[in-house]
Amino acid sequence: MTALSTTLSDRLQDPRLFRQYAYINARWTHAENGREEAVTDPATGEVLGHIPVLEDAQVTAAVDAADDAFAGWRALRADERSEILQAWYALLQEHSEDLATIMTLEQGKSIGDSRGEVQYGASFIRWFAEEGKRTYGDTIPSHMPDAALGSLKEPVGIAALITPWNFPLAMITRKAAAALAAGCPIVIKPSNETPFTALALAELGERAGIPAGVLNVVLGEPPAVSKILCAEPRIRALSFTGSTRVGELLMEQSASTVKRLSMELGGNAPFIVGPDMDPKEAAEAAVAAKYQTSGQDCLAANRILVHESIHDAFVDAFRESMSAQTVGNGLTDGVDLGPLIHDKAVEKAQSIVDDAVSAGATLHESTQTPVAGENFFMPVLLTGITRDMKVWREESFAPVAGVLPYSNDDEAIELANDTEYGLASYVYTHDMRRIWKLMRGLEFGLVSVNSVKMTGAPVPFGGVKESGLGREGGSTGIEEYLETKFFCLGGMASASGS
Ligand code: NAD
Repeated sequence: MTALSTTLSDRLQDPRLFRQYAYINARWTHAENGREEAVTDPATGEVLGHIPVLEDAQVTAAVDAADDAFAGWRALRADERSEILQAWYALLQEHSEDLATIMTLEQGKSIGDSRGEVQYGASFIRWFAEEGKRTYGDTIPSHMPDAALGSLKEPVGIAALITPWNFPLAMITRKAAAALAAGCPIVIKPSNETPFTALALAELGERAGIPAGVLNVVLGEPPAVSKILCAEPRIRALSFTGSTRVGELLMEQSASTVKRLSMELGGNAPFIVGPDMDPKEAAEAAVAAKYQTSGQDCLAANRILVHESIHDAFVDAFRESMSAQTVGNGLTDGVDLGPLIHDKAVEKAQSIVDDAVSAGATLHESTQTPVAGENFFMPVLLTGITRDMKVWREESFAPVAGVLPYSNDDEAIELANDTEYGLASYVYTHDMRRIWKLMRGLEFGLVSVNSVKMTGAPVPFGGVKESGLGREGGSTGIEEYLETKFFCLGGMASASGS
């Protein structure tokens, strides 16, 4: 195994948070065949460290460990599991600056965004530490004279968690905390672009007292590792966050073992601006909703629909606000937008712009000097777009915004719903009747009215249509990891009476 990278560990107050191994049965494990893969800083191209490319048998060994640990973990009282989760939460707080540094180095986002993600991600651990104590069953009024009926909630079993690179910490904790609180051991497969945040979380989990085998992190070639997890009959729940393309593949691969599936997939969010809005206020909100995490956000406002009466004023204000966004290395103070994750993301962004411009759209560029570096992409706006362009049809996952005028509310709803995705949507208007009509008409799992921020631990987060299945967070998030067991106690005299 390669020696610890000095560049990353030297930047941490606690260098032991930087781990270049998989984590199986509480052991830091390298690949048996010695294979490894480099992880780079998207801002500089510098190699931050290496991760093992595990053999198939090593992935299965993580499932064996989880299987062995299941009985002990589920046997703990809910308040005992809660205490361990609370300790994990406290350690995330104690090491929040190191976690933010690791995240910015491997993902590229601004250090301010990374600090925000540590708080957001940690909040799910605190939330589910409490929710785990309230997994109530039911008593059921009996339809039989001598039987008592009811239901219990029980952990579903081992859960596999497959997560993306755009939110390297929160997409893990949103799943892991719910599964652990429910009594399920977990096998995490983070993205190869951002493994070090996941491994730091495992290190802190061990310090918090999560027993051996209850939390495992596996790494390798994503298709190979995911295939093993999907086909493994002992894994009873699969929770995936990522693209719709890969989500569909994992659903197919899981069919033979009939797993519980949670799918948090792609989005193509509409941002509707009503005629009553101040164009500047709406444009500033749209810029924030579009360019957060450099547009690499499933909630990013991709398709901005502006009432025709304020379209031109909105576009002027948007260009001004877009040009105020500072692009650069996420570790530099004052930077709003970091680099894109890799060169393929830059190519995709450019292809979306080229496709629109070649079909007649107008390109508006930031007035700031472009930042040097192959993964940097300056924010742009496209106007005069049409519904057959890629900027309309595809999730750009880049700082590319498209604006289209509309003339009435029915048209806005029809345009907004013209996508196979159904995750987030935004509505900006102060007209109550319009708010209600749009909220009801939008085919999206999340509708945010007059607010860019909408997510958090209490929120039932998830999409409809091809944006996914199930909800994470809120009071329903833990249900993804629980089975309902019905019981009938026969021979109970007077069981049906009240
Ligand atoms: P991705 O689908 O490429 O990868 C997600 C995970 O799947 C990673 O762990 C990756 O290693 C693995 N993977 C990749 N290819 C695979 C394959 N062929 N077989 C099996 N596993 C494979 O997604 P990404 O690029 O990491 O993330 C961006 C996507 O995630 C966007 O579409 C975004 O909208 C979505 N996302 C959704 C949410 C949500 O809550 N709905 C949140 C964040 C991101």
